[in-house]
Amino acid sequence: MTAFDAPPEYAPRSAWHRDCTACGACCTAPDIHALAKPLGVPCAHLRADCLCAVYTSRPAVCRNYQPDWVCGEVAPLPTLDARARRFLDIYGLLDQT
Ligand code: SF4
Ligand code: SF4
Repeated sequence: MTAFDAPPEYAPRSAWHRDCTACGACCTAPDIHALAKPLGVPCAHLRADCLCAVYTSRPAVCRNYQPDWVCGEVAPLPTLDARARRFLDIYGLLDQT
């Protein structure tokens, strides 16, 4: 399985997105200890257009993040909130927000 392969229940939609489309979900859904960012809350550096305001100095955890099949599930959704909620749901974390 490659990083872009989705579990069977998510194929084939997840094959549509293989690159980051700057949807903002991974800057919102997960907790990021390096940024003291809680689960389900947009990073303080996430701009309204879902780009990173500190891109050139973002921490290693952000630099090392790679888009994968989850992006295909979340990025097409119409709002940042919907994308973040879907992201958390995929990881079974929705009830922790
Ligand atoms: S969830 Fe995926 S597509 Fe969205 S910003 Fe993060 S890496 Fe990019
Ligand atoms: S520092 Fe930038 S890349 Fe990292 S979570 Fe915040 S907005 Fe996203």
